Amino acid sequence: MENPAMTTRPFDARQTNITDLIQRLDGCATIVTGNRRLARALHQAFNQARSAEGHGAWPAPDILPWDAWLQQLWQEVVISSRIESAPGVLLTSHQEYFVWQEILAEQSGDVPLQATNETVARIMEAWQTLHAWCIPCREADFGHNADTRLFWQLASMFEAKCRKNSWLSVAVLPGILQKYVQIDSLSVPNELVLTGFDEWTPQQSSFLRAFEQTGCSLQWLQLSGQPDRIGKLACADGRDEIRQAARWIRQRLEENPAARIALVVPELAAQREMICQTLDEVLIPQALQPEHHDRVRSYNLSLGKPLDRYPPVSLALDVLGLSETVIELPHVSRVLRSSFIAGGDREMNARALLDARLRESGEWNLTLQKLLTNAARSGQPYSCPLLAECLSNLMKQVKVSLAPTSPGEWAQRFGQWLKAIGWPGERGLSSEEYQVIQAWQGVLREFSTLDWVIRSVSLTEALQQLRHMVAGTIFQPESAEAPVQVLGLFETSGLQFDYLWIMGLHDGVFPASSRPNPFLPLTLQREVDAPHSSARRELRVAAALLQRITTNATEVVISYPQRKGDEILDSSPLIDAFPALSEEMLAMGTQSAWRDSVYHSRQQEVLSEDVAPTFVGTGIPGGSKLFKLQAACPFRAFAELRLVARPLGRIQIGLNALVRGTLLHRVMEMVWAELDSLAALANLSPGELNALVAGKVNEAIYEIAPRYPHTFGERLQALESKRLHALVLAWLEMEKQRPPFRVSGREMETELELNGLRINLRIDRIDTLEEGGELLIDYKTGEVKASAWFGDRPDEPQLPLYSLAFTDDGLAGIAFARIRAGDIAFEGVASEEVSILGIKSFENLRHTREAASWDEVLAGWRQTIEQLVQDFMAGEARVSPKQYPQTCTYCELKPLCRIGESLEAVDDC
Ligand code: SF4
Repeated sequence: MENPAMTTRPFDARQTNITDLIQRLDGCATIVTGNRRLARALHQAFNQARSAEGHGAWPAPDILPWDAWLQQLWQEVVISSRIESAPGVLLTSHQEYFVWQEILAEQSGDVPLQATNETVARIMEAWQTLHAWCIPCREADFGHNADTRLFWQLASMFEAKCRKNSWLSVAVLPGILQKYVQIDSLSVPNELVLTGFDEWTPQQSSFLRAFEQTGCSLQWLQLSGQPDRIGKLACADGRDEIRQAARWIRQRLEENPAARIALVVPELAAQREMICQTLDEVLIPQALQPEHHDRVRSYNLSLGKPLDRYPPVSLALDVLGLSETVIELPHVSRVLRSSFIAGGDREMNARALLDARLRESGEWNLTLQKLLTNAARSGQPYSCPLLAECLSNLMKQVKVSLAPTSPGEWAQRFGQWLKAIGWPGERGLSSEEYQVIQAWQGVLREFSTLDWVIRSVSLTEALQQLRHMVAGTIFQPESAEAPVQVLGLFETSGLQFDYLWIMGLHDGVFPASSRPNPFLPLTLQREVDAPHSSARRELRVAAALLQRITTNATEVVISYPQRKGDEILDSSPLIDAFPALSEEMLAMGTQSAWRDSVYHSRQQEVLSEDVAPTFVGTGIPGGSKLFKLQAACPFRAFAELRLVARPLGRIQIGLNALVRGTLLHRVMEMVWAELDSLAALANLSPGELNALVAGKVNEAIYEIAPRYPHTFGERLQALESKRLHALVLAWLEMEKQRPPFRVSGREMETELELNGLRINLRIDRIDTLEEGGELLIDYKTGEVKASAWFGDRPDEPQLPLYSLAFTDDGLAGIAFARIRAGDIAFEGVASEEVSILGIKSFENLRHTREAASWDEVLAGWRQTIEQLVQDFMAGEARVSPKQYPQTCTYCELKPLCRIGESLEAVDDC
């Protein structure tokens, strides 16, 4: 491998100010900055200075960030007529990524994609570090462990491939350009000013020295000032810290709208959403109103989001995913709810209903054809003819263009497929959406350039690469200049502000922990002092960074959270020396948050809105569900059963709990249809019982599997068969211990009339006991207790309800049959001792031992059930969960019942 000569001479930095830099531009210097933001700030300062001098037009100053400067020099090399032979093709980062990925796959066989993505990123980082820090390349040094040996092999393969194809990696670009400088083949400025850099890699030093040797005057200048005030502030937690910072910013802006303010956040990516939300709330509360969400912000975030997190792009990827053989329902669901395809607004309601219908199917996977068939079904509330037309167009296009081809050709096909479905929709785009779509087109163009490194890929591979590229593209829509800048810790280099708040400096993140690259020998990384190679380096870098940042403004506040979840945090030791500040000392505004202002300015009017119109029908779907819902929360029963306000079905991978429960019920029904009684069960040999259960399990699966063709495939069927077989056998072994009984009812349907309302019941099982009387059994696959049958608001009123169907003194007891792995048991209550483990006589059960007789227990249940049905019919619909918050945990009606707000109101009183 090539090993650039190591250069150690560091440049000496000199302090400067913005006026000096502008004057140097007047003298035709070239300024190279450490980051894009600083280049933009210098451009702006230069233009303001020119304008203030009364100029109407002026030549653009030569200010470039480092990477763009290297690219510009490279362009000069490529187009220069003085270069005789073509220097090769400089790979883009995406092309380089693909080459490394391909080499890694060749070397390590079938590596799972997720691991490959992460691994390739670390390998590319190692390659970059190797060159930037001029790490000596001796094979023996890389032989210590499997990772470094692998890297040596991969790097050798990468170099060979680049050589063969005349490709150049960006990592070697400074070394190549250096040679052109040395042979005088590049135009060199008289004065080169470097600003906004904290340190130089040996590769950069060597490259810049080549400029110096041609007579170019090289200056490393650091913009700096002196703060008038600096101190640290302890905040309760991260949220409190952001709120305090936002209030401080608002106060400073009110005092001086032209102030330049920065909020520096070390963990900006993780806290981005919370910061935006809080700054909106405190600085521009109007933006919280939907019609003003596009309002111009008074702050700018340096860090964008991955492009695939913007709705138009994530939808485009979902649409392209429809072309795959099997589509996952969450993707389809997003397509149906989006307005970024044709007819999205016009068919909004029907598409939402189609989404609900597909979710009810319980299938995680489906096909484009199935989606099309459902959308095209006419005369249904979920019919979506416009969508059907779009899907049909898409399907026609997909069918004729599925053969593997080049990325460039795939990019064209993808464009056509999106057009076929009417992406990006019919409504006008906002400025942000327009920019996002431009960025997407840019990624597609870049995707086409993979033609340089790949000849042909399948649809799946093309989509994987495209998704990877989109996810790796961090995008921030352009916005007007704003007085407040929100920056990462390393982005402040060279920038000057009036006010600066650095947050999150607790001992867990500052200084950062060392994070050496696993693919490079640790000793070599430490020898050259490579980034993140040691804790000592991290400490030194953090101290220097803090020292520099704190000279960037006249007022500097450094804050840290004292808690993160349950973890107690301390301030970073690097800020110990700063004086402590308090809220009062910072003179922060006293304005409360918008939400609190609205809430506290409310005028309350108490409405007796809890009684709904009386129910006038004679039947209601849902059977015993009515009683369970009414007991848990009257509003839930009203909303779900009378308003039909039900949550969308939950989508999950594999079989959902409902299907698995249905399978168990069906197997038990079929087994007892065959056996009929304990005697029949006891007569079977173990082998016969085994065969019987296996047969019934297979029969039940055979019956139910066709309903879930994409989910309940052979492998899952085999697993489910094994699970059910073991569970049912275990249950039957337990039943063998019971006194004789006969199964007189299985999944028995009956009807009960209460208060004029017809209730349909389906009783899992009825056993006729030898001692006389009948035992009602309810199969359960979850945690259940007999206590759930008692009280005014029973959690499980189903069996007490069924007991009402037995008016002729024949009811001997009720019982849950708990059938789940490791928990096989009856739990029940009976009129007398029945010798069944888990079923107690009412006199021995804690909840009923006070009752004078079994009839009194039955009468109690009757009273509870009748009261619940009376309440329901009378329109009793109070928002009154039986036990908050447990009762509400899995209820999705919260936006409708607004339980959160009502409890807050209660707390507030
Ligand atoms: S969230 Fe709670 S209070 Fe609201 S409807 Fe559901 S159970 Fe009732």
